[in-house]
Amino acid sequence: MKEKSIAMKITVCLLLVALFAGVTVYAAKQVVKYDVHDGTRPRPPVITPAAQPGQPPSDAIVLFDGNDLSQWRGGKGEAKWKVENGYMEVNKTGSIRTKKSFGNCQLHIEWATPTVVKGSSQGRGNSGVFLMGIYELQVLDSYKNDTYPDGQAASIYSQYPPLVNVCRKPGQWQNFDVSFVRPIFDGTGKCIRPARITVLHNGVVVHNNVEIKGRTEHKKKAKYRPHSDKGPISLQDHGNPMRFRNIWIRELPEQPYLIAD
Ligand code: MG
Repeated sequence: MKEKSIAMKITVCLLLVALFAGVTVYAAKQVVKYDVHDGTRPRPPVITPAAQPGQPPSDAIVLFDGNDLSQWRGGKGEAKWKVENGYMEVNKTGSIRTKKSFGNCQLHIEWATPTVVKGSSQGRGNSGVFLMGIYELQVLDSYKNDTYPDGQAASIYSQYPPLVNVCRKPGQWQNFDVSFVRPIFDGTGKCIRPARITVLHNGVVVHNNVEIKGRTEHKKKAKYRPHSDKGPISLQDHGNPMRFRNIWIRELPEQPYLIAD
């Protein structure tokens, strides 16, 4: 009787091992799609690059071309920022956000702090670009304007200072080029893949594929709270007359694991 029971346990163990191995092989087959130089591999879509760096390539969604705020909405209804001379300007009517929502993306945005310098630290030329409406890439006049480093221009607010301060002088146009990978949550709301971000400020890498630790809230340790797979790009009205222009975005797919072992 005892021998039978031992034999049964061994059989169950072997079955479990076989099942686990089978699942592993199956999972591996799901992710390994093509071998090196596989000619059957689908070709990437062909797009047309912009004539000038910083301009949108052919597959970009233009969010602001200097003419109107038709791609944006305000907190309650229409976006009411001033539009003139090819730029939009913050005018204390509240933050604005895109009508469309995005997950993984490449974003280009240009901004200028006021020529007439007023205030200091966080009170000088403050705004922000929020990925998914949640994760803030700080906009600030950080030209000879000291503040806490995880709140200066191009910081991931409350988390990472930029690697360098490459701010231009007040009034001059600056740009961010962002590559963003969204977070993923499981069915219970637990974050199973944190967001990641790469940022170039005025053409210089200031964040190199860093892991975002959660929501970028003032004086709070970052934590994730679940949200949907896509969210708007929002721009902050922090009370300073900041200007933005030439804003475009490209939606990016999940990058599959394509190389065979
Ligand atoms: Mg801000």
